[in-house]
Amino acid sequence: MTTELYAFTCGFLTIPRGFLLAGEKGLITVPVPSYLIVHSKGRAVFDSGLHVDALQDTLEYAGEMLVRYHKFHFNPGEQISARLEAVGVGADQIDIVINSHLHFDHCGGNGQFPNADILIQKREHEHAKAVGSDRGYLLKDWDTGQRIRSVDGEYDVFGDGAVVCLPTYGHTPGHQSLRVKTKTGGEFILCGDACYLKDSLDRLHTPGVIADKDAALAVLQRFREMQDRGARIMFGHDPDFWKTIPQAPVRLG
Ligand SMILES: [Zn+2]
Repeated sequence: MTTELYAFTCGFLTIPRGFLLAGEKGLITVPVPSYLIVHSKGRAVFDSGLHVDALQDTLEYAGEMLVRYHKFHFNPGEQISARLEAVGVGADQIDIVINSHLHFDHCGGNGQFPNADILIQKREHEHAKAVGSDRGYLLKDWDTGQRIRSVDGEYDVFGDGAVVCLPTYGHTPGHQSLRVKTKTGGEFILCGDACYLKDSLDRLHTPGVIADKDAALAVLQRFREMQDRGARIMFGHDPDFWKTIPQAPVRLG
């Protein structure tokens, strides 16, 4: 097995804390993570961060509703294609972009990958098509013209168990997380928004904005079991946790 995993922070967002932890007050500034997975059968990116248009005018890009609750901290060089280039990987060399879901901070960079297939859960694609540009979805982020491979449930990306999509519905109707078994033997769970913070898991504290609370709680329980088994849970937007995560070109696993 030759799978390698690298992490990137592609900007930050300041958002209401209650979005992440129901009932909490104030604001929190969170990282926007993205990952590169290098496998002998191809290169994949998991979540692509923010759209390059957000480098210019966030109001024009995201619209009044999104900007009201999201302050962007996103500078040239922080978009995923530039971050990859800085470690010697061209965006045109990426074969697959796997999105946890199609909210703007998880698929905004999809358009930066001209040769990639987009791998998402079928029900997330259906939901995005129904929503269009509303409630965190923006057509220009997810409707970027590449071939969309939509899968239904658990899916083994390279056929050898190294990189597996795990349905983790709840945050959105078709959210998925990714399990990566790396070269060094470590198993990582890239949560996406199925588990924002270490606190979410420790306290089983669900977010304030959520499609299905019971489903989301069941997902947190599954993550706890995986953690007990020794898997490393990569919290989706935890600022303190992400400070401890080595960034590419240092390999995470
Ligand atoms: Zn998010």
